[in-house]
Amino acid sequence: MALAACNPTGGSGGDEENFVNLYTARHYDADRQLYAAFEEATGVAVRALTGNAEQLLERIRAEGDATEADLFVSADAGNLWRVKEAGLLQNVTSPALEQGVPENLRDPDGAFWGFTKRARVIIYRKDAVQPEQVASYDDLANARFRGQIVMRSSTNTYQLSTLASRIERQGADNARQWAAGVRANFVRDPQGSDTDQIKAVAAGEAQATLVNHYYYVRLLKSEDAAEREAAARVGLIFPDQATGGTHVNISGGGVTLHAKRPGRAKQFLEYLVSDAAQNLIAPLNTEFPIRPSITPAPELAALGSFREESIPLDALGRHQAEAARIFEEVGWR
Ligand code: FE
Repeated sequence: MALAACNPTGGSGGDEENFVNLYTARHYDADRQLYAAFEEATGVAVRALTGNAEQLLERIRAEGDATEADLFVSADAGNLWRVKEAGLLQNVTSPALEQGVPENLRDPDGAFWGFTKRARVIIYRKDAVQPEQVASYDDLANARFRGQIVMRSSTNTYQLSTLASRIERQGADNARQWAAGVRANFVRDPQGSDTDQIKAVAAGEAQATLVNHYYYVRLLKSEDAAEREAAARVGLIFPDQATGGTHVNISGGGVTLHAKRPGRAKQFLEYLVSDAAQNLIAPLNTEFPIRPSITPAPELAALGSFREESIPLDALGRHQAEAARIFEEVGWR
């Protein structure tokens, strides 16, 4: 990464170089449009190095205080928490961040801040299941679905975060009982991605599963007619509307401990949660805006509004190891 000439433009990174380096586990076209819009608005260039969350964490760790990473960006608070826990993020805050990001969608210490939101939803086969039979995560553990549930592997961060949120809300014993009940309903050993689970349900191999909402939205909007037909055969439920609310997670970012341009990094984070960036990304994004006041993409708006859980996001990290243990104990591989 080359150094750019110093040409300050004001803002919180005013005395710093005129670029910011991201290590990002996201790689969407919408993100590149955001970088361009930020550069247009501020004169500060965004340089993004992409990789998976684990690789980027290891790279930041290996680079130590020589790292060129100013901001770490990833989906899932579980991934962000691992970087925080490794001592590689610094706590930051500002009025723009505090006002821009709801409390349940940021790290309580300010180590990372959400800028988009995703929901863990139930997908069910419309010709076999009534929506009220899958209104709650608990229903996936109901004996009525014996041999009718497909699930992704428990090593996936989304599953770990889902169980971690249950540990936080209802305790470890409850979480173990639930995981054992769902495990008892498996039609096959866990395999494949979230999208593969939806396709298995659509194909009649199972009656229900658990996925992040945007995988369903992607199938709905797919250019492949077979994928659109698969989406048409299934329904989506925001679980636990009558109780604790649907499990939500974030895509978010945190300023690295050894950032060379911490002011620029914070400036970019503030931009990501601003009305301008949120409105720009909303129609391009299959995730929800970070605030309810921003209108989501039409496909998302069509899913309706929902009640979301409210737990401190770092709980997803704090309970991650215990979630992994419980999955292991109940044989959910
Ligand atoms: Fe994903």
